[in-house]
Amino acid sequence: MKEGTNLTEALKHYFGFDTFKGDQEAIIRNVLNGHDTFVLMPTGGGKSLCYQLPSLLMEGVAIVISPLIALMKNQVDFITHLSEHEGTAHFLNSSLNKAAIDQVKTDIRKGNTKLLYVAPESLTKEENVEFLKTCKISFYAVDEAHCISEWGHDFRPEYRRIRPIINEIGNAPVIALTATATDKVRTDIKKSLGIADADEFKSSFNRPNLYYEVRPKTKDIDKDIVRFIKQHTGKSGIIYCLSRKKVEDLAEVLRANDIKAAAYHAGLDSATRTQTQDDFLMEDIDVIVATIAFGMGIDKPDVRFVIHYDIPKSLEGYYQETGRAGRDGGEGICLAFYSHKDLQKLDKFMEGKPVAEQDIGRQLLQETAAYAETSVCRRKMLLHYFGEEYTQDNCHNCDNCLHPGSKIECSKQLVIALKAILAMKENFRTDYVIDFIKGRETDEVVAHKHHELDEFGSGEKEDPKIWNPVIRQALITGYLKKEVENYGVLKVTSAGKKFIKSPKSFLVVLDHEFNVDEEPAEGGTSALDPTLSAMLHDLRKKWAHKLQRPGYVIFQDVSIEQMATEYPVTLEELKNIQGVGDGKTRQPYAKDFVDFIKRYCEENDIERQADLRVRTKAKDSMRKLKILQNIDRRIALDDIANALGIDFEELLDELEGIVLYSGNKVNIDYFLEDIMDPDDIDDIYEYFRESDTGDLKEAYKELGGDYEEDEIRLVRIKFISDMAN
Ligand code: ADP
Ligand code: MG
Repeated sequence: MKEGTNLTEALKHYFGFDTFKGDQEAIIRNVLNGHDTFVLMPTGGGKSLCYQLPSLLMEGVAIVISPLIALMKNQVDFITHLSEHEGTAHFLNSSLNKAAIDQVKTDIRKGNTKLLYVAPESLTKEENVEFLKTCKISFYAVDEAHCISEWGHDFRPEYRRIRPIINEIGNAPVIALTATATDKVRTDIKKSLGIADADEFKSSFNRPNLYYEVRPKTKDIDKDIVRFIKQHTGKSGIIYCLSRKKVEDLAEVLRANDIKAAAYHAGLDSATRTQTQDDFLMEDIDVIVATIAFGMGIDKPDVRFVIHYDIPKSLEGYYQETGRAGRDGGEGICLAFYSHKDLQKLDKFMEGKPVAEQDIGRQLLQETAAYAETSVCRRKMLLHYFGEEYTQDNCHNCDNCLHPGSKIECSKQLVIALKAILAMKENFRTDYVIDFIKGRETDEVVAHKHHELDEFGSGEKEDPKIWNPVIRQALITGYLKKEVENYGVLKVTSAGKKFIKSPKSFLVVLDHEFNVDEEPAEGGTSALDPTLSAMLHDLRKKWAHKLQRPGYVIFQDVSIEQMATEYPVTLEELKNIQGVGDGKTRQPYAKDFVDFIKRYCEENDIERQADLRVRTKAKDSMRKLKILQNIDRRIALDDIANALGIDFEELLDELEGIVLYSGNKVNIDYFLEDIMDPDDIDDIYEYFRESDTGDLKEAYKELGGDYEEDEIRLVRIKFISDMAN
């Protein structure tokens, strides 16, 4: 490859593009010149081309190490399309059989192959190493290079063995590429690959079109999410959850609310996963609920929102995942839900791991927590984390910038913190420093004899909530530095030392408060309307009288209360009330109730909260469905219980749920007539007709001498189904 070769022509020739994106050209020249190269470019920036193009222009075969076996085939197909020859690109991974491997080797030997994709575990195989030793290697490309570091978000131990293997196969330049890397990860990568002097090409990580917001995670989170999606109907989005179970559950809740959603996680078979991906790309599905397994190879440019249901384990992962929104430069809403409880859960989860790993895990988690709690511009926080300075005061595209809290002058507090850190010889982490400033004699503080220092407790009189934000903002502003490699201890920079001598104004915004686990956010849910509740009880009495039925078979108390909270004004809305099923809405009184509520709302100017009622997933709905189907087929109830592997009592529980709480009709006459005397059935039936409450315990007391509990329950189910639904 000669200097001055027209790269733009080559780009056009092979890829059909007219111009290079970002640093691509400079990077490619660097590789062609035989230099080690380090590329940091956000997702979608065009990293692949940085090794694909030079490989086509150089002598020998380029070895591309990539963790994503699933994507190798796509990449190889892509290159094969571009070039005139078969075999220009190949891959080697565990999916190939012997014959296919032989074909790969033949093509490489003939010099036809310019690009060889290998999974790291295939690269380390003895026979592959032996073979590659005999080949001319143009260069090595290490894609997703952050996998080398335990400080990244996707550590793969095999990646650590790349350098020794390269030494064995034969030296050639190395190009390492990644979309996320903090300073620490970057150092790790270079060290592990032995490319300390590599030329670095770093694109800005700022994604101006992405909007960042963190919301408290309450027990109403499902509702919040449904409401959010309904406000963005028809747009594509991804929701990340940490567990497979949550993924399944949430997808079901979304579907129950008429949202086109599907679950995606590594536990599903690959055919289902592929189908889900395709449906998402084709927009037959709007929302994917996924564990982190989703999205690595997905290139959908118009994903409009990415929601984090759980706090992510690291900001690196978070950034990568939010990065999948708005790749086309259009709208991209990144919404994360955060609670202390989640944080504690993740922390606890780490306890079983090796100590070093725990330590890293906890530090990464602390960074995410800091991001969530801060009132500083989120863009500034993120970019700072990735070693980039964002100098604008207001990004106008994150919750903190759009709704800024009031700033407090903290010049004095900063001086206290800086002096305290220096007094402890700059050898401690944030939490410890704060304990010290507050004057808390923890075991650790005492062990270091720090309680004997003058500075101990120097911030006692200040607002205890100020210290985290002060330290965080001092880090961002550059008065402090965190030594990640050294357990995250805080160091005072020269700017910090200057500040102590001549303090300036230092404005800080207090953190968000996230102690919300118990109570939903105010305004989120509406309260019971006691006037309406009383009126509906009266209305129920009227109908009970008219129909000669007990009130509870008209509507149960819980249903009435929910109506007096949510104000359903159509039959459709009434169905979302607990205990109301299709059967109920066909009853003559149903219309009367909703009309009544409607009039009430109009007369009292009631603004109904949201046009939206979130349906929660019916629990074990599959089981209910099976029971109903089998009853339709007139299968004996004890046989149904057997087939489902539950006791008869449990089956009765289910049936009571079906008639009482979901308001469905079931006809179990065939079974009752089979096992009971018609007179006995009538006797119990009449009892319930007279009863005010329909309470079972009372019924046992009254009827217990003559009938079994099961019999009483069965007839009650029939009665409620006949009368109520
Ligand atoms: P990354 O690996 O950095 O996430 P890719 O290499 O997958 O990104 O490239 C992202 C997209 O950008 C691809 O669709 C690719 O075809 C396109 N692309 C890359 N370079 C150029 C270019 N010079 N001009 C136009 N499109 C490009
Ligand atoms: Mg890539």
